[in-house]
Amino acid sequence: MERQAKIMDMKEYIEEAESSLLHTYNRFQIVLDKGEGVHLYDINGKEYLDFVAGIAVFALGYGNKAYNDALKAQIDKLIHTSNYYYNVPAVEAAKKLKAASGMDRVFFTNSGAEAIEGAVKTARKYAFLKDGRTDHEIIALEHSFHGRTMGALSVTGNQKYRDPFEPMIGNIHFARMNDIDSVLSQVNDKTCAILLETVQGEGGLTPATKEFLAAIRKVCDEKDILMMLDEIQCGMGRTGTMFAWQRYGIKPDVMTSAKALSCGVPMGAFMMTEKVGQNSLVAGDHGTTYGGNPLACAATNAVFDQYEKLHVLDNVNKVAPYLEKKLKELMSRHTCIKEHRGVGLMQGLLFEQPVGPIINRALDKGLLLINAGANIIRFVPPLVITEADVDQMISILDTCIEE
Ligand SMILES: *Cc1c(COP(=O)(O)O)cnc(C)c1O
Repeated sequence: MERQAKIMDMKEYIEEAESSLLHTYNRFQIVLDKGEGVHLYDINGKEYLDFVAGIAVFALGYGNKAYNDALKAQIDKLIHTSNYYYNVPAVEAAKKLKAASGMDRVFFTNSGAEAIEGAVKTARKYAFLKDGRTDHEIIALEHSFHGRTMGALSVTGNQKYRDPFEPMIGNIHFARMNDIDSVLSQVNDKTCAILLETVQGEGGLTPATKEFLAAIRKVCDEKDILMMLDEIQCGMGRTGTMFAWQRYGIKPDVMTSAKALSCGVPMGAFMMTEKVGQNSLVAGDHGTTYGGNPLACAATNAVFDQYEKLHVLDNVNKVAPYLEKKLKELMSRHTCIKEHRGVGLMQGLLFEQPVGPIINRALDKGLLLINAGANIIRFVPPLVITEADVDQMISILDTCIEE
């Protein structure tokens, strides 16, 4: 038998990665190998408590047996067809998503950004069918994040991300979160959609207020403008309801989902009401090769099944107030923490200085955290975490801030 090749150490893998992968991320200097529950392990076997969850993705935690088994079974059955044929997992996933969201029509994508692209095309087509114009405008928000493809970037309210890639798709206007006048002052008869995250993620964990969403709903109703909510990060139970807008007493015309929708298999979706579905995209207008393939849809189906079985929403509603209390206590002990933000298991702490050094110290001590902008630590753990996990996280973070 051939002698087994020497297993590379962590540093060698990192060097190799940096010589091959395009350097679009300043990565943490660890190589992850496996996961179990709310813990990840690097290739040396070091354990990390995970308060990142692959950026709000792995809601179920790692190694959920039913989820893994469902994927394995689907792999052996059928991985991919094409959207020119029907497949059973996609039919089931669409049904589950409709039931969870109250939307009527679903288009599956491979990512969040692709879901946003679809939502933008839906809005333009809807307006085009009404008046035949080709100069419609979309209002998005400052500090928003909707993804990195050209259309999604065009509606992302962060100039640093956009500037090097100008020109954008055009006719996008930016308003301020929770400032309805800044929205209304930009509405005109060319406006086809108002797009926002129900709770801003990357931009700083800012929830929309009830009044703000109600006022947007009102102007959208009056002028037949599409209200489009990006639930890619805040959806799928993260704030305690399946979708964050469901606690506001309003309903969007179009919404997007991704991230926790399949807990790790590339998957996203944009959804709409029947009225929008009947008056926007038709055969030939939009497509995707992989989107909604049997494997990805089997993952989504397993996610919905496990949410029910494990009472994931109940757990969020139980642990989130505890996390909030503990973060606020931490804030009262450290004057460098200026503000607590967020809702559900999507919370953040605003520091008066950049948080990079704190996050790196936490990594050394076996805790994964991520920022949201330079001065905010974002807490987006798996939705199955316990109060004991919160205690452990707080105790590590506490020492990292002290240092
Ligand atoms: C992550 C994210 C996106 C982009 O999703 P990708 O799958 O990375 O393309 C869009 N909107 C929000 C709110 C997000 O958090």
